[in-house]
Amino acid sequence: MGCWPEFSRSAKLNGIGISEIIRIGTEARKLATSHDDVISLSAGEPDFSTPDNVKLAGINAILTNQTRYTALDGTAALKAAIRRKFQRENGLDYAENEISVGAGAKQVLFNILMATLDPGDEVIVPTPCWTTYLDMIRLAGGTATVVPCSEETGFRLSPEQLAATLTPRTRWLLLNSPSNPTGAVYRASHLAALGEVLRAVPRVGIISDDIYEHVLYDPAPFATMAATCPDLKPRVVTVNGVSKAYSMTGWRVGYAAAAPEVITAMAIVQSQSSSNPCSISQAAAIEALDGPQDAITSRRNAFRSRRDRIVTGLNTLPHVHCTMPDGAFYAFADMRALLARPELKRKGIIDDAALCRYFLHECHVAIVPGFCFGGPGYLRLSYAASDKMIDDALERMKTGVNRLLAV
Ligand code: PMP
Repeated sequence: MGCWPEFSRSAKLNGIGISEIIRIGTEARKLATSHDDVISLSAGEPDFSTPDNVKLAGINAILTNQTRYTALDGTAALKAAIRRKFQRENGLDYAENEISVGAGAKQVLFNILMATLDPGDEVIVPTPCWTTYLDMIRLAGGTATVVPCSEETGFRLSPEQLAATLTPRTRWLLLNSPSNPTGAVYRASHLAALGEVLRAVPRVGIISDDIYEHVLYDPAPFATMAATCPDLKPRVVTVNGVSKAYSMTGWRVGYAAAAPEVITAMAIVQSQSSSNPCSISQAAAIEALDGPQDAITSRRNAFRSRRDRIVTGLNTLPHVHCTMPDGAFYAFADMRALLARPELKRKGIIDDAALCRYFLHECHVAIVPGFCFGGPGYLRLSYAASDKMIDDALERMKTGVNRLLAV
């Protein structure tokens, strides 16, 4: 059915599209309907099931009629479980009015930006980053100031880069560790060095996206800004959720801890958009946070061995280089040397987007191009996949690359 001729999108959506990652996932699924052998390494979600105790808590919530509207930004019981989590795992004390729960960390981040940005306000975003940040900042009326962070500096923002990027209009620094897509991790020493710069600019807040906290292989303990720099804690919004830690991406529960003024402003946005997150999912999230935590360790170990497998395999591909990420479940492979080869140029494979299209259509492997994250010339491969899928994907990529290099 066609649209009526006068329809037009709001100018707010100018330059903003459906996330490229979601688009590639959809394209891969479509291709899979005609070719049943498509391997998708594009999704940003654990391939494990939600633990049974958590599923049962959800079922029990339905059976006990926890199916009505709840408190706007999270039930008191879930907020209590989140406070215990922050205390137990991060050594952070928060009051109930310093916690907000939304439908995923994504909504929580959106609420923060909508509630605080005015036109001209700047958010410093180190790249490569999860591209949603950039679109959300724009949708919220702000301006993203991207700071490219190269592989040579571990894909991390340096204090010097931060100092050089701050302006009188800077409202937030947005940090994500472990990072999607690079797997880079900011240790306490890195955060302390950034904190030193931030101390001199009291108007600037820090958003710390800790969603991959539990997918960490670095031997150093997980560090987060509010705990590393306690004097900055009033300026930090710590964002987290149950999606990645407990394989609960579809349940849609994320949360934030911040000063009450920030939490109240976020509640206004949520109150006029989605209202409370799903009541059943909130009950399940309590069990995830309070229940046995052993699945976190076993799944992290599984991810670690898959990481080693895929990174080792990628480094055997001609002209491909991939560093060992310290966290999350993505390999971020440098394809620039491969893309510089004249054989590829002759075949029209001139950038990471074209290379991904080639891998999808000719090798049936779905991968996300690095340009989506502000890292052109790289590819992001999610290793939230079985060993067999990883091996098969690598095999196909090897054949594909060799075919491209053949004259
Ligand atoms: N932050 C980052 C860096 C992510 O990669 C994601 C999911 N892809 C999210 C936040 C959102 O997670 P959710 O909304 O499922 O909690």
